[in-house]
Amino acid sequence: MIQHKDLDDPGTREVIVIGGGIAGLSAAIYLGRAQRDALVIDSGHSMAKWEPVVGNYLGFPEGVSGEDLLKFGREQAKRHDVKFVKDEIQEIRREEGDFLLRGEEGSYRTKRLLLATGIFHLPPEIPGVKECLGHSMFFCKDCDGFRVRGKNIAICGANNEAVEYALGILLYSPCVVIATNGEKPHWSSQHARWIEEYEIPVHLEKIVHVEHCDRQILSLQLANDQSVAIENIFTTRGDVYHTQLAESLGAKLDADGQIEVDHCMRTTVPNLYAAGCVTPANCQMIIAAGEGAAAAQAINRDLFEESLKTHSLRRFREVQLAEEETIPEVE
Ligand SMILES: Cc1cc2nc3c(=O)[nH]c(=O)nc-3n(C[C@H](O)[C@H](O)[C@H](O)COP(=O)(O)OP(=O)(O)OC[C@H]3O[C@@H](n4cnc5c(N)ncnc54)[C@H](O)[C@@H]3O)c2cc1C
Repeated sequence: MIQHKDLDDPGTREVIVIGGGIAGLSAAIYLGRAQRDALVIDSGHSMAKWEPVVGNYLGFPEGVSGEDLLKFGREQAKRHDVKFVKDEIQEIRREEGDFLLRGEEGSYRTKRLLLATGIFHLPPEIPGVKECLGHSMFFCKDCDGFRVRGKNIAICGANNEAVEYALGILLYSPCVVIATNGEKPHWSSQHARWIEEYEIPVHLEKIVHVEHCDRQILSLQLANDQSVAIENIFTTRGDVYHTQLAESLGAKLDADGQIEVDHCMRTTVPNLYAAGCVTPANCQMIIAAGEGAAAAQAINRDLFEESLKTHSLRRFREVQLAEEETIPEVE
């Protein structure tokens, strides 16, 4: 069977996806099944790897590890002939409408580009915390609130968001404290009133270290020699969006620093799409997967329309007509 990609300049991909996390893999599966010539370039740091038991992804009643979800997604995309490269893209420029990508390992050229580069959640800078990431130290109550029901929970932070987080976590546990880690609180007077009204203890001292065993947090050790028996920490320290490549191409970001997209995941730059946590996606795996699928559908549709305009579909058809059985037998 002659494939559409056989007619293209082999040096130019129809589609490149930067990022082989949840959004990128979902897009890759759709692009592969749409018979597109797709390459996924990934540096291998998906945040999904941090979650040992994903309990809110459709279809896994017992949960699934983030690592396995990535492995399954990759296998599924490879079955549809999608190619993968391990590389980190450093720079992108435009030439004759194409995107030219420069990575640490190689250079690549494509007609359509999907950015699925994700974000990075900043963990608190407290000795002992990093070892517990995803096991007893979390960033997202929608992901892990259910896992910590009834536990002793500390919210690290000193702003309005930290107070609202603490209030939200009350739905999961009665034992919630705020630990500012030595930072002077800068929450509003309304938030201060809520702290009083809901009787949430606040620890203002610096946290010297987090005591833990087998990635399970046991306590916060404070600078005043107090030890607070805590089992889980959530933080509100912030996110770093991987948007440098998008910005360098002139894509518009929103006020929070996420890439602006329309409902088909098209950015403000022609032929450039974005999906997953780099967009306003609420940073959930199932939403990232959905956005990846939506982006791939839009890319496929846009390439199809382009092939009508440029007559490349007609050239494809001519090869089919010359080489293949195109008329069903009629009795
Ligand atoms: C501790 C923790 C627990 C979580 N638990 C859950 C949960 O239970 N349920 C849930 O729904 N969500 C959870 N999440 C969120 C979930 O991980 C994200 O929603 C999901 O991974 C987003 O997918 P993505 O494709 O946008 O980004 P990612 O999966 O992070 O993938 C981005 C990919 O892009 C690559 N990349 C970035 N820049 C470049 C570049 N320049 N060149 C090449 N490659 C590049 C990265 O290496 C990475 O592989 C959790 C997150 C964390 C941190």
